[in-house]
Parts: sequence; C-alpha cells; structure tokens
Amino acid sequence: MKLVSDYFGCMVFNDEVMKARLDPETYESLKRTIKHGRSLNLSVANAVANAMKDWAIEQGATHYTHWFQPMTGITAEKHDGFIAPAENGKAIMKFSGKELVCGEPDASSFPSGGLRATFEARGYTAWDATSYAFIKDDVLCIPTAFCSYGGEALDKKTPLLRSMEAINRQVLRVLKLFGNEDVTSVKTTVGAEQEYFLVDKDTFAKRKDLLYTGRTLFGAKPPKGQELEDHYFGVIKPRVQAFMKELDEELWRLGVFAKTEHNEAAPSQHELAPVFDTTNIAADHNQLTMEIMQKLAKKHNLVCLLHEKPFEGVNGSGKHNNWSISTNTGVNLLEPGETPFENAQFLLFLTAIIKAVDEYQDLLRISVASAGNDHRLGAHEAPPAVVSMFLGTELTEILEAIEGDTGYGAKEKELLRIGVHTLPKFPKDTTDRNRTSPFAFTGNKFEFRMLGSSASISDANTVLNTAVAEVLKQFADELESAENFQAALHDLIKRTITAHKRVIFNGNGYDEAWLKEAKKRGLSNLQTTPDALRRFTDEKNIALFTSHKVYTEREIRSRYDILMESYCKLLHIEGRTMVDMAMKDILPAVSKYSKQLCDTVLSKRAVCETLDHTYEREVIEEISERAKGVYESTKLLSEALEKAAKINDVTKLAFHYKNKVLSTMRELRKNADALETLVAAEYWPFPTYGELLFGV
Ligand code: ADP
Ligand code: MG
Repeated sequence: MKLVSDYFGCMVFNDEVMKARLDPETYESLKRTIKHGRSLNLSVANAVANAMKDWAIEQGATHYTHWFQPMTGITAEKHDGFIAPAENGKAIMKFSGKELVCGEPDASSFPSGGLRATFEARGYTAWDATSYAFIKDDVLCIPTAFCSYGGEALDKKTPLLRSMEAINRQVLRVLKLFGNEDVTSVKTTVGAEQEYFLVDKDTFAKRKDLLYTGRTLFGAKPPKGQELEDHYFGVIKPRVQAFMKELDEELWRLGVFAKTEHNEAAPSQHELAPVFDTTNIAADHNQLTMEIMQKLAKKHNLVCLLHEKPFEGVNGSGKHNNWSISTNTGVNLLEPGETPFENAQFLLFLTAIIKAVDEYQDLLRISVASAGNDHRLGAHEAPPAVVSMFLGTELTEILEAIEGDTGYGAKEKELLRIGVHTLPKFPKDTTDRNRTSPFAFTGNKFEFRMLGSSASISDANTVLNTAVAEVLKQFADELESAENFQAALHDLIKRTITAHKRVIFNGNGYDEAWLKEAKKRGLSNLQTTPDALRRFTDEKNIALFTSHKVYTEREIRSRYDILMESYCKLLHIEGRTMVDMAMKDILPAVSKYSKQLCDTVLSKRAVCETLDHTYEREVIEEISERAKGVYESTKLLSEALEKAAKINDVTKLAFHYKNKVLSTMRELRKNADALETLVAAEYWPFPTYGELLFGV
C-alpha cells in the first residue's frame, strides 16, 4: 500500500524538488524572489524553467500552461506542448525562462469590462512564484496572474495579491509599535470549507435546468426533505465514500491538504475542509478542489453541484472562509496572548477588524454577491444579507468592560486596563457555538460564512484584507504620533468599540427579529446582487481600493460592469430554460395527462351514464387552471426576456431582471410545481426532487 506521506505533493514542483534540482545559487535566487515578490532575472528563470521541464516530463507531462483565474470565476488554461522541432527532423522538448515567467494567451474572449478593447486582444500572464507549479492531467500548470498590457488586472488573483501586500504593510507598522522587530512579513491565511451536492449523473442528464443552469428551476417538495436531520455527519454511502477517497488522493498528490470530509445538513450534501494556507495559495487550491470534484464525480457516474441553491426548500451550499493573519515568525495575530502586552496587541487587531467589518459591510456583501447566492442568503439556513459579527459572550464582556471602564469577571475588581491585564483563554467551544453569524470569531480566526459555494474566495479576501489594512493604517497613523503609547492605545480601542459595536451581534442571525434590530442599528441589508453591487462604486469604496493600490478606479468600474452583466446573463439563461421546459415538456405532459383523464370520463359515460367521475373531473379542472397559469406566466416571461434586449444600461438591465424576470419566474414555478403534485408520475417529464436527492 502506498503511504499518503509518500505521495503527498508528488505532482508539485515544491521547495523540496526545487532544492534537489536547482543548483544552490539558482535556488537561493529563486527563494529571494519568492520572498520579496520581485521579478526573476532571465538566467535564473531559464535554469528554473529547464529544471521544471525535466521534472515535469519525468512525471509524464507533455504540455505546460499558464493557469489563471479570469473574471469568469473559474480557471482558464491554454496548453502548449514542450515539443519543438530539432534540426534532423526529430523533436526535442523545450521550455524557456521567458515561457515560464510570462505568457500571452489570446485573451479577447475573457470578460474585461471594457479594460481591453478586442482589437488589442492580448493580455499577459505572469508567474505567481509564491504558488507552486503542479501537474494536472499531464500538463504542467504554472499559477499566474492575468493583466492587460497597461498593467490592469483582468483576473481575481492580481487584486488579491495586491491586498495581501496592503495588509502586510500596515500590520508591520502596528507590530513595530508593539516592539516586534523580528517580524519582517505577515500573510493572511485562509481555510476554505467547501460544500457541494452529489447527484446521479443519469438523473441529472434528464433535467435541462440542472444541465443549463446548475440548479433546479422547477420541482415540488419531496415527501421527505431534511427535517429528520439524519444526514448531517451521517454514515457516508459507499458510492460517495469511493468518490471522497479518490478526491482526497488526487488532491493530496496535488499538494492540497484536504483534511475533513463529511455529510452536510441536506440529503446528498457534503463538505470538504482543507488545512488552512496562505491566502493566494488557499485560493488556488480551492479552485483546484472545485475543478477536481467536478471531474471526479463524472467518473463515479455522479455530478457535483457547486451551485449555491440547487434545490428549493433544502439547504444551499456555502463556502466558509476561515481567515487570520500570521507572521513570518509563526505567530497567529488573532490568537489571544499569554501576557498583558500580547493581549493589548490582540485587542487592537480585533477592534481593527470590528471597525473594518462595520465600515465596509457593503463591500463584504458585494464580495459574495451572485445570482446564485441571492437564493441562499437569508433563506434560513444561511446568514442573512446583513453583515454582523459574532464574538462570543466572553470577548464581548471584555469589550464592554473596556468601553464602560468597569471591572471584568467575578474576581476582577479593578478596571480593565489594556496592557495591564491578561485576558482569559477562550475555550474553542464557547466561541464556536454560533453557526448563524455571517462573521464569527472562532477562537483564533474569523469565519466569514456568507460566501457562496461556487465563488472564488479571492473577492471576499481582497475586500477583507484591504478593509483591515485601511483601519490599521488609521490606527498606526494615530499611535505612531502618540506621546503616551499605552494611554493612546487604550483610548483608541475604547473609542473604536463605542463607534462600531453596533455590528456585534451574538444572537440567532436566522431570526426575523434580528433583521428588525439590525435595521434599528443602521446596518445595511442589501438583499440582492444588483442592490449590493450598486454600492461598489461609492466614493468611499473607490477611495479605499485606490489608496491601497488594490484596484484602480477603472478596474472597479470594469468589474462593476462584468458583475452586473454576468448577473443578467445568468438570469437570461434561467428564464429561457424555464420557458423551454414549460412549453416543450411541462405543458405537453399536462395536456397528455388531461386527455387521458377526459378519455376516462368519456369511457365511463359510455359504459354507464351514472358512473362516478368526480376524481377525474376535479383533477382535470385543477390542472387546467394551473396549466393556464403556467402558460400565462410563460408568455409574460418571454415578453420580459425580449424586453431585456432593448435595455442598454447595465444597471437598469440588472434591475429589470431582478424585478420583472425573477418575479415572473417565481410565479411560473408556483403553478408548475403544483402541477407536478397532480400529474401522474409516468407523465411527468423529468426526475423529481425525491429522485435527485435520494437517488445516490
Ligand atoms: P472545525 O470547524 O471543524 O472545528 P477548525 O475550526 O479547526 O475546525 O477549522 C476550520 C477551518 O479553519 C479549517 O480549514 C482550518 O484549517 C481553518 N483554520 C484553522 N486555523 C486557521 C488560521 N489560523 N487561519 C485560517 N484558517 C484556519
Ligand atoms: Mg466551520
């Protein structure tokens, strides 16, 4: 049997391989580049490329690709062979430093939101040397960032890397104030828990809605849903077990630390949690995880659904973004410390995050906005669209004691002074109890739970890093010029708590009452993607991103267009799929079934005028009424979709889809789902929720 420890990372050009295959000088030079984020000089690049090529060929690779994450949210790759003609009509395998460091994919068909006119189609990809190259399906994949020739980001990775630099700069300033002279760099870390559904592939193939949109647009509630709560952490079925085993093995070979696999709350829903890593690597690994989940599922005659709400009435899928900040000396800055001084530092970072989340609620909401996630947020199994923070009782009491100049705890009679008192250790179970909070402190990290399952984690972390960087900048500005550091620190923390405590909420986030309370507190509740996105270009948000050099204003505006556009496109596809299913499948099936019922009535009458046909008649009446409803909504939906073609302004268009298209889709679904419960099973044109959810 092969040991996991033997094959873990065997498909990765990692530090160990680099050390073994590069001459010491090249190795050191590469390491320096990685550490300081500078560009490689050509002779080093050539040596690295050559070693990478030899290694890759030994592992069976024939091609290489610059692997990148365009604005479509999925990864892109264009394969080039290592093969090159040699003089004698033979072939040699070649890979140069230039090819490693920089690529030029024909980028004209990736969304750029007007940043790159199609006549100057070229963008370029640049190696992100902090993320190791790896081999997938015999292709050497080089993780890259994707930019236009003007240097504008065309992808999700570039802003993420910029935001990591921004937070690094500000955290270092703060750490200096606390005398941490040994720390030279800090990185944010993320562990992204991934939820997904597995359905049978043959069943899936019979539903156009799943095929075209990844979610069911029709479907009556099955007799059994998730009410028995028998799926969460339940025994994993053999077919799913086989899938998970292979998934783990493949991820391990790629150096992804897949750690925990279990069933989730809904039937057929599962979760994979990796061990956390540096944010850009975690983002790459999450993309890889999603890709491999989908690929491997097919091999097991399953389909992996990554949509945020594949089924109405059962839980949707999210992605929990566990986030913290780590120093190069190995200290987690969100770990409460052992000494009063460490605690003061912890409290400063904590209050900075509180302020950042409060001031940039809108951006955090925007960072998780998508048509799919709109169906999930606030649907009673996911946090609402209101951003709030859970800190747990103990930590909240500490903040209250600081704010109110009161004593803390039973023994503490003195006032809680920052830098004087030691905080208690917070046992994990007391901080982790609240599962309904969008942004929860879980002992030594924050868990941002609003991300949708299909999202790239890059957007959310770009916002989080930048918002926290901004607040830390303000803090550092103030504290660096303070005469009495201790007093200024105490005052700053106290002031910040008072100004931003409205965002702290330790109660049940799924409760209706919370939404009212949140409104009273002035927290924003941006329920849909268009509502949220409109805030993206607010002056304060542009100021945030531009001042930390994370996005230029042009990049923000182009992203706004891309996000609004993709919302519209998605809803357009959903609308058209519904029209198609209603006209070509549902209504014809209903007609056939009513004909059968009518024929039965006629036959009964022919046999004997007085034979009872109440059942047939009543059902005919009800399905005729419902069918009329379906037909009328279908016509309205078609009209709304046609009208969309005449709207040029992308914001107006998005609101048209939200207000007109989506509401008509809902109306159409209501009648169609009622029909599903009335029409005989053999006539219904597609597999039911029951078959989808319990069929594996
Ligand atoms: P559980 O939620 O099952 O109790 P944990 O809370 O330990 O497990 O971890 C949940 C996720 O948080 C995992 O992906 C884990 O790697 C990640 N995580 C743990 N510590 C950190 C950290 N310092 N920074 C980022 N993510 C972390
Ligand atoms: Mg969790």
